[in-house]
Parts: sequence; C-alpha cells; structure tokens
Amino acid sequence: MTPVFPLAAWACDPARSRGRRYPVTPDPTRSSYQRDRDRIVHSSAFRRLEYKTQVFVNHEGDLFRTRLTHTLEVAQLGRSIARALALNEDLVEAICLAHDLGHTPFGHAGQEALNDCMRAWGGFEHNLQSLRLVDFLEQRYPAYDGLNLSFEAREGILKHCSRRNAELLEAREPGGVGARFLRGEQPSLEAQLCNLVDAIAYSAHDVDDGVRSHLLTLDQLREVPLVARYLAQVVAEYPRLARPEGARRLRHETIRRMLSGQVHDVITTTRDAVERARPADVDAVRRLPPLVAFSAAMGEGTQQLQQFLLRNLYRHPQVARTMEAAQQVVRELFTLYREDATRMPADQAAQAFTADDEAQRMRSIADFIAGMTDRYALREHERLTGRRLLP
Ligand code: MG
Repeated sequence: MTPVFPLAAWACDPARSRGRRYPVTPDPTRSSYQRDRDRIVHSSAFRRLEYKTQVFVNHEGDLFRTRLTHTLEVAQLGRSIARALALNEDLVEAICLAHDLGHTPFGHAGQEALNDCMRAWGGFEHNLQSLRLVDFLEQRYPAYDGLNLSFEAREGILKHCSRRNAELLEAREPGGVGARFLRGEQPSLEAQLCNLVDAIAYSAHDVDDGVRSHLLTLDQLREVPLVARYLAQVVAEYPRLARPEGARRLRHETIRRMLSGQVHDVITTTRDAVERARPADVDAVRRLPPLVAFSAAMGEGTQQLQQFLLRNLYRHPQVARTMEAAQQVVRELFTLYREDATRMPADQAAQAFTADDEAQRMRSIADFIAGMTDRYALREHERLTGRRLLP
C-alpha cells in the first residue's frame, strides 16, 4: 500500500518488515503497522490502562492523567513528530499505544513492590512485561498466544532490557528483539521517537496535574529554567494572567508553549542528525548512535524539569504515603497467592498449578497482579484480608 505521506529512506517500511512470529495473510486495506495498532487498541491490556495509576491513584480525582490518557498524549506527540520527520506514523502510533501496557497497578511503586517479590525468580520489569503481554498473555486468536505483532512494533515496545533478560530472549528467538541489547545497537527511529515523547508527555502533564492537585505551585516551578522561560513569556504577553483568576490559563498556556518548544526542538535536532548521518535504511539506523534527540540545551532543560518533579512531586509526602500503602497491597497479594493459588480466579490458579517449576508458578502470580487495575487490586486485597488500605 502506498502511504499517504512519503516515507524517508530511513523510516520503517511495512513492505520491508521483518514480519510476525506467526505468518498472516496480508490485509487488503491496512498496512501491517496499522494492523498492529488495531490489535493493541482492541486488547484487554489496553482497556485496563484506564484504571491504572500514572502518578495519582485513580480515585484521587477525575481530571488527573491515568495510564490511558498518558498513553494517548504520548501517541499524539509521537504522530505529530513522526509526520514532520517522514517517519512511519502508523508504527509510531502502535508503539506509543503499547508502551505502558505492562505497567502494574499503582505505577512505579507497584512495579518496585512486584520486582521485590519476584527477586528470586528473575524480578519484574514493566517494559519486558509489555512485550510478554503482546507476545503471550493476550489470548484472542485461535491459533496462537499473544497479539502476533510485527517485529518492528515489538522492537519498539522493548525499550530497555537487562543483559540477562536479553540473553533469555535471544535463546528463545535468535536474532530477535533481544539481540540489539547484546550487540549494542539502536532500535528504529520510530522506536527512538516513542521513547523520547514519553518523557516529553509525562513531564508536561505532571506539571499540570501537580499544580492542579496543589502539591506543586506555578511559583515554585519558577526555579525550573525551562518552565520559568515560558511562564515569563506568557506573563509578558498577557499581564492579566498574572492575577489569581488567570492562573488556569497561565498554566495551560505555559505548558502548551513548553510542549511546542520541545516538539520543535526534537524535530530540528533529529532532522539535522539524520541529514548528517544519511542512513541508507533502517538497518543502517540500527547500527548508528541514537539519532532522535533534543538539542543539548533543551535536553538539559528537560532533565532539570524531571529532577524537579522527582524531588517535589513523585517524592511528595502525600504521594509517598499513598504509594507505601499501594506497595503493601501488592506485596500482601503476592504472599497470599503464593501461600494458596486457589485464592486467584480459577483460570489463573490453573496456570499456576500446571506450571512446571516454581519460577513459572511465581511468574503466573506476577502476571496476574501486574494485569490488575488499581481498584481491582484494592478490592481483591480487601476481599482476602478484610482491610482497605486506600479509599
Ligand atoms: Mg509512559
């Protein structure tokens, strides 16, 4: 199929895809990356993102980002930039929509707790879990497990991987998605882009949610040079927004300009880097250093913002208290299922019972917990312990 927008030579071209693990008949109207995207949107894991924490636990407010709205913002930014760079927009969309599928309930706190529980059996990593979901855990097709996505989508979903896990993947699938971590290669530009827009999206929306929740103030954000610059610009143009009744528009306009600044910076910097490197195709991209990047100045500004958010929002005592309770929920659920697998729903328990060894049994418990939404985890914990740890 001819794409509506011409693709750069270094973009991923569905006609030259490395294909799927199980061959399928080509679709008459959709490219294989469009098909990947559709499979992701129709998966159960995608729908569960709606009730999973980004930073704020779901019940804390209706307007805060959830994993789902975060995911949609990532996909929006990714598509805009992909189109400007003549990269494959459909592939970027697919990878962005899948990038957080493997997240546990309660965000990073949940992942840390589950990783601790699984320490003796290979640990738990949300990135690897996203791949595990699309490769094995989704059960939708008669002939195979998983969503059977294209190599390029799977390559983008696995953005980090320890050497040990890469070796395990390589043993299962020689020359597959684990290989680049062993060879020290990069993924496609589409995958590199999704990784960067994830960071752009969350640093912008966490400023918004942080201020909206009153855990941060716009004044406090003046200590971050990147935010201060856009804030000053907006106040200079619209002095009336400096009054209390202008606070909401001031916040939105500042964040909007910051996002645009970052997006245009990535487009310009990446375009220059690609023009200089002139990779012949995506395989040449994989052998080069990363090409999708911020300029040095914007990279530093964004990093300062991320450090500010870490100190003042992610480690805010109120967030930390919620997250401690959330970790307790995850740890206690793991112990309860480990003591007695019949505490899990029958099909899940059956998997735990039929597993060959202890590591596989523990993995099936971790899969079950990782798949939970925040509220399901809280309800399940209450059902088994009689205690409600969060409202
Ligand atoms: Mg994300």
